[in-house]
Amino acid sequence: MALSGLGIYKLLPKTNCKKCGFPTCLAFAMQLAAKKVSLDKCPDVSQETKKALESASQPPIKLITVGSGDEKLEIGNETVLFRHEEKFYHPTGIGFIIEDTSSEEDIKKALGEINKLDFERVGQRINVNIVGISCESKDASKFQVVVKTVLENTKLALALVSDDASFIAKALEASKERVPLLCGATSANYKEMAKLAKDNKVPLVASAPTLEELETLVKNLNTEGVEDIVLDTGKKSIADKLWDLTQIRRLALKKAFRPFGYPVIAFTQNADKFQEAAEASTYVSKYAGIVMLKNRDPWVVLPILTMRQNIYTDPQKPLQVEAKVYEIGKVEDKSPVIVTTNFSLTYYTVEAEVESSKVPTYIVSCDSEGMSVLTAWAAEKFTAESIAKALESFGIKDKVAHKDLIIPGYVSVLSGKLEEASGWKVTVGPREASGIPVFLRNLTK
Ligand code: SF4
Repeated sequence: MALSGLGIYKLLPKTNCKKCGFPTCLAFAMQLAAKKVSLDKCPDVSQETKKALESASQPPIKLITVGSGDEKLEIGNETVLFRHEEKFYHPTGIGFIIEDTSSEEDIKKALGEINKLDFERVGQRINVNIVGISCESKDASKFQVVVKTVLENTKLALALVSDDASFIAKALEASKERVPLLCGATSANYKEMAKLAKDNKVPLVASAPTLEELETLVKNLNTEGVEDIVLDTGKKSIADKLWDLTQIRRLALKKAFRPFGYPVIAFTQNADKFQEAAEASTYVSKYAGIVMLKNRDPWVVLPILTMRQNIYTDPQKPLQVEAKVYEIGKVEDKSPVIVTTNFSLTYYTVEAEVESSKVPTYIVSCDSEGMSVLTAWAAEKFTAESIAKALESFGIKDKVAHKDLIIPGYVSVLSGKLEEASGWKVTVGPREASGIPVFLRNLTK
């Protein structure tokens, strides 16, 4: 549990010597509690105090990094049980297992499909993150060859899956630069696995079927000097896995229970694609750091990624686009002008429909603090005055040779007032964005 400023102060030398740059030890303690300075600024803290403060300042769930470069995966470091308390920070990594008994051709084909699971939604990239290679061949050399093939064909983070440390050691020779996740340690092999993880500075999955056994295993790994750990409670029904995930998160956050202060990996068990999507979504919501899937059809994966995106946005800050004029297609001075809000989902829905109409159009995105049309109107963030102000400040009148403005059908009530406030002629557009293509095509006939 993090210490308060006063708690930290009690552990400091209390000499007010100012060597840390603060006038008093109390001032320094307050800044330290707020994480605005680091403990090493005080040269006089004892080793004992250092240890106590360092452990108190650790996050309740450790941040674990798998992979390297742009595609590295960071998981953990979450601070709350519910996203209305504070946002979730590190989105669940979504991955797949490839077996080393598959042919090279099949492996390359699978990796090509996995690499394509990379989409854009409401202006953000949503993609999969990790590929696990499972040593089913029980042949270390073959395993290493397949790991090399995977390394050459994807930039995603890697997991090396085997409970035999000798196979993992061979695969690590080819892949340690990419900081793979070793998957993993059990009560039977933890010493060998811990040595590999420590020597190669890579994270390690600790796998045990019950929470009690997992606690013992993590403590053993800590004793062996391993601190970068991902927890796994093995194959379970959805209900049992959900129980484990929830208990681990609660114990880490509410009881500062250090053995469970790590992110968790979950492997889906359902072969049925619909069931698997539901299972994976459950684990993303509560509270997996990584979910490994069996199926990789885009229609299975995209809803999971979309759900993850929604879970990991800040509920107090709606996704927004920049409020400005957007030019869709080869616009000219007679192109229509549509107005909408700057809520990402609203804007991108309108943009997609305008694009599909093939009618070059200006979209004026007004600052509605990220609210959708009706919500913003009800909250008085999308008013005749605010729209008129946006038209003026964005200089749309200098881009077109007309003064015809299309507003969303849901706010038709604004027409008269908006005409008065802006001097533009207002046309009420469709209520739903899906009506935009027909509306625009009819307008320009
Ligand atoms: S350097 Fe240490 S002892 Fe000196 S004032 Fe700062 S916190 Fe206190």
